[in-house]
Amino acid sequence: MGKSHIILCAGHGVGDPRASKEANTEVLETIKIADVCAHALARFGIPTTIVPHRLNPKDSTAWVNKRFEKDSSMAIEVHKDVSPDPSDDGISVWHGDGNQAEEAFATLLANQLATAIERPNRGVYPDTTNRHKRLDWANLQVDSVLVECGSIASANTESAHEYGVALSQAIISIFQKNS
Ligand SMILES: [Zn+2]
Repeated sequence: MGKSHIILCAGHGVGDPRASKEANTEVLETIKIADVCAHALARFGIPTTIVPHRLNPKDSTAWVNKRFEKDSSMAIEVHKDVSPDPSDDGISVWHGDGNQAEEAFATLLANQLATAIERPNRGVYPDTTNRHKRLDWANLQVDSVLVECGSIASANTESAHEYGVALSQAIISIFQKNS
């Protein structure tokens, strides 16, 4: 994989002007997932940076682009789906269309996280097929993926804390496989 640094970003950010009521709930969940995951990674010795939660998506992108170089880091944007449809629950991961490093990491992350949280692996997709069309994260200079950690509307979804721990376990196992 060749990455030595993880950048975590909670989806939307507190200042996202597009956030609906559901997305505001999603923000609180994804902030907790990112924080729990980052602390676990740091304890394990994996250098990790959290993008400040107050930044909206556009400012988050600029913040990361100013600080990180292309090859050393993998950025992970954390989301939860807001759909009550049970078929949306589970793990899906998005990557830049045609970016092989991102696609390889996305495939590992979907597998490892689905295993760690015991939820279905819903697959790995290029950002061009996302229903929002162009993901903000696609504007990053560093390699990046976007992970959907289940749905907040699902009746039996795991807690944000459980997802944070599972996400850290998934990332640690990817680092161990590649070291
Ligand atoms: Zn989202």
